[in-house]
Formats: sequence, C-alpha cells, structure tokens
Amino acid sequence: MTIRTRFAPSPTGMLHIGGARTALFSWLYARHHGGEFVLRIEDTDRQRSTDEATQVILDGLKWLGLDWDTEPVFQASRQPEHVRAAQQLIDKGLAYRCYCSREELDTMREEQRACGKKPKYDGRCRHRREHPEGLPFVVRFRSPDEGETIVRDMVLGDVVFDNGELDDLIILRSDGSPTYNLAVVVDDAAMGITHVVRGSDHLNNTPRQIQLYQALALQPPVFAHIPLIHGPDGAKMSKRHGAVAITEYREAGYLPDAVVNYLARLGWSHGDEEVFSRQQLIDLFDLEHVGKTASRFDQQKLDWLNGHYLHQSEPSALVNEVARLLDADTAGGPDLAAVIASLQERSKNIIDLAAGACFFYRRPVVFDEKALKKNFKEGTDALLDAFVEQAGALDEWKPEAIHSVIVAVCEQFEVGMGKLAQPIRILISGGPVSPPIDVTLALLGCQETLARIHSGRMYIAA
Ligand code: GLU
Repeated sequence: MTIRTRFAPSPTGMLHIGGARTALFSWLYARHHGGEFVLRIEDTDRQRSTDEATQVILDGLKWLGLDWDTEPVFQASRQPEHVRAAQQLIDKGLAYRCYCSREELDTMREEQRACGKKPKYDGRCRHRREHPEGLPFVVRFRSPDEGETIVRDMVLGDVVFDNGELDDLIILRSDGSPTYNLAVVVDDAAMGITHVVRGSDHLNNTPRQIQLYQALALQPPVFAHIPLIHGPDGAKMSKRHGAVAITEYREAGYLPDAVVNYLARLGWSHGDEEVFSRQQLIDLFDLEHVGKTASRFDQQKLDWLNGHYLHQSEPSALVNEVARLLDADTAGGPDLAAVIASLQERSKNIIDLAAGACFFYRRPVVFDEKALKKNFKEGTDALLDAFVEQAGALDEWKPEAIHSVIVAVCEQFEVGMGKLAQPIRILISGGPVSPPIDVTLALLGCQETLARIHSGRMYIAA
C-alpha cells in the first residue's frame, strides 16, 4: 500500500505556525514511508476564502520546502462530487431534507435547555414525507442513534464517542453547498488518502466522518490528531504570542531549515536530541512519538536553532535571502558571499546579516554621533594621515597587509590599535560595529576605503 497523506488548509485565514506544523508532520509521514503528499485547498467557504490566504499557503509551504506531489486540488471545484454523494445517501435513506426554519430550531433548542437537556437536533424531519414546493431545505445525514463510534487514533489512542451524542449533521446547506464533514470525506476517499494527519481541534468531527465513510461504503483512512500548540503562557497560540503568517518568519530573517527543525520538535521527540537535518527528520519521523499533550511555543529555542543553522550554512547558500532583505544594490560591490562569511558568526538571523552587509554597498551618509565623540580625539587626524599614506602605498590589498599597516602606525604613535581601527570603522561604515577591520577593508577594496576615509573626514570637519 502506498501511503498518501494530505494537507487540507482552508484559505480563510493566514497559514500560521500550527498549520505549518500540521503540514510538516503530514509531509514527513509520507516522505518517511516513501509515499505521497498532496495539497487540497478547502475553499468551499466562498465568502471567507481569499486569494491572499491561498498564496500564503503556497508560498509558505514552498519556503519550508514541503513539496507536494500532484497539482493542488481546489475543493470548491469538486462540489458536483459532494452533491452526488449526498444524493446517494438520500437514495439509500441515510440522509434527508430538513425544512426546519431557524426559528423552529431555536425554539426546539430552548425547550431542550429548559428541560435540562443538551441542545441537539431532534430529527423531526427524518420521517417527513411531503416536500413543500419552494421552501428552502438543508440535507441532513441520518446518524445512528445507538452504539458508539471509535476513533482509533495513531496519536491519541482509541477515543470513544457515544452515537447518541451526535445529532443529524447538515451535509448540504440550503444553497446546495456541501459542509466540511461531507466534502472532506468525499475528497479524502477520492484522493486515496490513507492517513489523515491534522490538528486535534478536528477530533470531534472524526466520528461523524467515520459514520459518513460507513454510510457511503468507503474505507476510512487512519487518523492521527496532533495536539495544538500553546503560547508560552499555556493559552492557545494567538497573535499575541506572535502567531503570525508563516511567511512572516521569512521576512523576520529565519531560515526554513531552522523553522522545520523547530516545528518537528514541537510535539515530536527522538530521545533528547534537538538538532535534526531534513534528511534525519525524514529518516526518523514517526507518529508514535508525537506527544498527546499540547506543546508550548518557545521563541528562544527557535532563535537558538536559527542561529545554529545560520552559523553552519555555506555563505553562498545565504546569498539570495540576504540579497532579498538587503536595502542596497550589490552590483559593483564586494562579493556578497564573502561579506556574509565575514558577518556570519556574529549574526543571529538573515536580518542581522542584511543589516551588517548594507554599508559594504552604500557609503555612509550619516555618522553615529556618540561614536564620533568617543573615538575622534586630538591625535586621531595624525593617525589617519599616517594610515592613509602607508595603506595607499601597499602593493597587495589583503587583510594581513592592512593589519600590518595598522599595527605599524599604532606602534609609531605608541597607541593601542583601537585608537586607529575605531575611527576608520566609523568613517567607512558610519558606526562603531563591523567585522574585523582588516577583513572589512580588504572586502571594501583600497580605492573605496580611501575614498570613504576622505569623504568621512570632510563631513566631520564641516
Ligand atoms: N480545512 C480544515 C482546516 O483548515 C482541515 C480539515 C482536515 O484536515 O480535515 O482546519
């Protein structure tokens, strides 16, 4: 049997951390078993579905590297299949038209509450024979009144539902559109889904879906409901905890490998290990080691992992992302991969890298006032003059040679290296922070270094 999993997001809100983790677990399960992973956009709620949310889903999954195997299926396009299934159930006597008006249903529920009962549709249209012309109706599934439905869940174990608790579910709305539970069953069956991996917020839908599979004489898939993600305070993850669209993590400078590694460990474990490459995750992932309780989102751990991946990346692998977030044009400037290599160790994320790389491609036009005051003293001009003269005469513009000039000048004037290095740094970058000065100047080039020192001094003198 080929394992086939799916991710079935509704494009009614942004794909956030929780959805991305569901997609990841589903993808990992398929990849681990050499199976297939498919994407179904559940856009049946035409009012609330947006193209923007669909785009975030596609972009987010692509960015995380969660590739899907066939063209995405847009659920709304499958409406005729859903309606056909509903008709099949009506023909078998397992579904019926319900003409109850909203008022009637409200009164029914009030009466039930008044007698201390849990409100539930009482099945009053089940035996209705006449079909009043022109009156709107919904189609309800006639669910069994007795017995129980057991969800044999790969994560949660057996979960037993009393059929008496489940009322007759609406499967077609009065406008003829299918509801989630019908559409999901018809589509999962049609797409040959063997394992449904989804958030545990759907657990209560599952007994209804199992009943629908049975009524339609279809084989139900295996279910795996993964516990939700909570914020650090234990409350359900929300905007307040930074539950932003997954694509925003990219804009915030995170690396997809770090986010994937972090999300995998959010609910799944393999001993005490924290760092897993993508291939290791594919090799090791299983649903048996997904925890039964909610996980807590831990920003610090994500940041730590991001730093880890950033430090061990090949600089060339970071070039595109840094260039994307860099507020400058790199054409004609130093090699970006070399600039990244000089900054990598001190950076936590791509934003840091892009910010640190910026001055290499843009001459400073403002200078940090505090740094100027602190580092430009009486003797600074003489030091700079000597540096410019000796550096300008170098045959070879390499870090070692530049370093020797700085050492020589500082020895000559009997001052510490910072007395010269810091003013140079400020003049060429605008501020007091850069990679080691010799490496920085080597990257910048001789001409550009001297030009910046000159124009910076003019600015300060003015
Ligand atoms: N469309 C549903 C959602 O986004 C997913 C349903 C499912 O995975 O079965 O919550």
